[in-house]
Amino acid sequence: MTYKRILLKLSGEALMGQQQYGIDAERLMQYATEIKAVVATGVEVAVVIGGGNIYRGVQAEQFGLDRVQGDYMGMLATVINSMALQSALEKLEVPTRLLSGLTIQRVCEPYIRRRAMRHLEKGRVVIFGAGIGSPYFTTDSAASLRAIEIEADVVLKGTRVDGIYSADPEKDPTAVRFPRISFDEVMEKNLNVMDMTAFTLCKENNLPIIVFDMNTPGNLERLIAGENLGTLVTMDGSTTGSTPSTARLSGLQPLVGNQPEQA
Ligand code: UDP
Repeated sequence: MTYKRILLKLSGEALMGQQQYGIDAERLMQYATEIKAVVATGVEVAVVIGGGNIYRGVQAEQFGLDRVQGDYMGMLATVINSMALQSALEKLEVPTRLLSGLTIQRVCEPYIRRRAMRHLEKGRVVIFGAGIGSPYFTTDSAASLRAIEIEADVVLKGTRVDGIYSADPEKDPTAVRFPRISFDEVMEKNLNVMDMTAFTLCKENNLPIIVFDMNTPGNLERLIAGENLGTLVTMDGSTTGSTPSTARLSGLQPLVGNQPEQA
């Protein structure tokens, strides 16, 4: 498979490395180095980072605080992580732009789709901060939505597990990894890939997802070079046929309605 434009989703928690909270400098530089290597191959790279290493909206409720306020705090946490990644990439002389779903004009450009596309065409890494800018969403949803908007070929979900398993591999030793799986099978088997909003957006818009282990150095580059790492989620659960960029329907499709499913 060849990719022209990818959207990489990184979880905030992964940024903690061995720490209990915040950003691990070594992990951050590892991610930046991996992204630089992919940019050097000519692939256009957009990134969404979560904020779970700093704050999640649900935590606010646990403390008896307002959920919406907590979600905005979570969105700000993603901006902090995005700024850290931007800085790390710039240290490696990779041109970047940080576009935020919330207006924070001293440090981020506002999210404007056409501007994001232009930056990508110029070879800049575009980091999307603050999720979609609305409470009750996650950065997985932001990753799916932005990927569809910028017409990315694939969402690469970097995790600490090397793909989608039949059960939790950290708890069940009999769990097996699916090299490929269809959107429908993920739903039938009730597998945990992304939250349902994010997953449905990808399904309805025929946007493939690859779940892979981002913490093994070199994996991102290997994936882009065509190695079968992790788990590929597609409409029919196979890699046969055209590349994702030609297979995918272009543009944002409505979530409702009877869209023709591919066989
Ligand atoms: N968030 C939100 N809207 C968005 C994206 C994020 O409200 O569009 C908030 C939400 O509270 C979430 C937090 O930001 O829990 C951090 O994002 P997420 O949990 O997705 O981070 P990750 O789990 O990837 O580290």
